[in-house]
Amino acid sequence: MLGRKSVLVSGASIAGPALSWWLGAAGWDVTVVERFDRLREEGQNVDVRGVGRTVLRRMGLEEAVRAAHTGETGTDFIDGRGRPYASFAAGADDTGGLTAELEILRGRLARILHNHSAGSADYVFGDRISALHDDGHGVDVEFVRSAGRRFDVVVLAEGLRSRSRDLIMPDAPVHELGLYTAHLTLPRTAADDDRWRVFAAGRGRQVSLRPDSTGGGPDNPADAADAENPDSTASVRAFLSLVSDVRGLDRLDTDALVAVLRGTFADAGWETPRILDALDNGSLYFDAVGQVKLPVWSRGRVALLGDAAYCPSPISGMGTTLALAGAYVLAGELNRHDTPRTAFTRYEQLLRPLVERAQKLPPGAPRIAHPRTGPQQALFRAVLRAAATPLAGRLSSRAGALFTPPAEAIALPHYPAPGRPSIAP
Ligand SMILES: Cc1cc2nc3c(=O)[nH]c(=O)nc-3n(C[C@H](O)[C@H](O)[C@H](O)COP(=O)(O)OP(=O)(O)OC[C@H]3O[C@@H](n4cnc5c(N)ncnc54)[C@H](O)[C@@H]3O)c2cc1C
Repeated sequence: MLGRKSVLVSGASIAGPALSWWLGAAGWDVTVVERFDRLREEGQNVDVRGVGRTVLRRMGLEEAVRAAHTGETGTDFIDGRGRPYASFAAGADDTGGLTAELEILRGRLARILHNHSAGSADYVFGDRISALHDDGHGVDVEFVRSAGRRFDVVVLAEGLRSRSRDLIMPDAPVHELGLYTAHLTLPRTAADDDRWRVFAAGRGRQVSLRPDSTGGGPDNPADAADAENPDSTASVRAFLSLVSDVRGLDRLDTDALVAVLRGTFADAGWETPRILDALDNGSLYFDAVGQVKLPVWSRGRVALLGDAAYCPSPISGMGTTLALAGAYVLAGELNRHDTPRTAFTRYEQLLRPLVERAQKLPPGAPRIAHPRTGPQQALFRAVLRAAATPLAGRLSSRAGALFTPPAEAIALPHYPAPGRPSIAP
């Protein structure tokens, strides 16, 4: 095709592949570079809500994602003996609930989006950008491994701690929230059920277990296709999270990190020993939780997308929804305008109201859900018990709003449907 526009998308998780599908389907020449040597399938449940779900619907993927639902039926806050003291049903609509109605493992969603876009985008794994030279008419990109190339537009969808972002915005800060989370995959036992069980263990610690619907197991943590692997062990997902004033735990090497987690959670109680036993099984994914709040999301012909631009943190339950909505709006505006500058400005104008709402975390988060002392724990339980009463459930205002992220805060623009037929997931 004459005059085909080219785009380099850096990062193959959620935002990158979603953008790649929209642009590839509209006829762009799309290259995706991912620094890992494979599609990353780690991670736990992510929620797709409101406008995020609308985007999946418009991509023809809602049913594929629904079919990969984790099967979680709701959330129980439990005491040290595993007895629930406050229970919440899964959301019954597009938007609400601690457990969203469309809840999927991050790795499965990444796989679905990758497969959907792979026919109209070139994926390059195991490489990354080393330099960007924007001369106003295009961007010359240098890579660590591949030969340099020129693109009309570059989009960085590299997540919270994007390194290439430093090439265009060297001082972009990550607002650390003082919360660390370790994610693990464990063999499922008879004691496990289909609830998200959350235990506030005191001293700023929280332990939780969630169903995952895979037959995964330690060697195949995230995206085990049971049909291909009928002997695989059924698994559940575990979280250890910790509020701490110590910075830099996420930069420890694995051995040091495992030692810190063992020491910190040794006496936490409930199912924690079983989770600590799994620290060596190779499924550990550890992250420091933060937000990205930037005054602009682009420089010249290079734009930021998803968590790299506006990470709201997993506490918001909105990261994946923003990534999908951002990809849709950015692609729509790039297709609508000849100059990237105009497209990037419109993308920002349209999406920023949703981002700002998503980044407003519940009062006291994340500390309130990680009580340190006995009185703080008692307060936390009292608040949850009150929120779980049928009366609170009927009040659409405060209690309901507490667990209902603002996923409908904007009306998505309607862009013309892409010309090409969609590729089956
Ligand atoms: C492995 C992993 C596990 C996660 N687990 C959870 C979870 O359990 N719960 C939750 O709520 N959220 C989780 N997230 C974050 C969640 O996916 C995002 O908040 C949200 O979906 C937005 O996605 P994103 O595509 O913008 O960014 P991300 O999902 O963070 O993806 C960024 C992608 O860019 C790649 N990348 C990074 N740097 C470079 C580089 N220099 N060059 C090329 N590629 C690069 C990364 O490897 C990754 O594939 C996880 C992310 C990852 C990468």
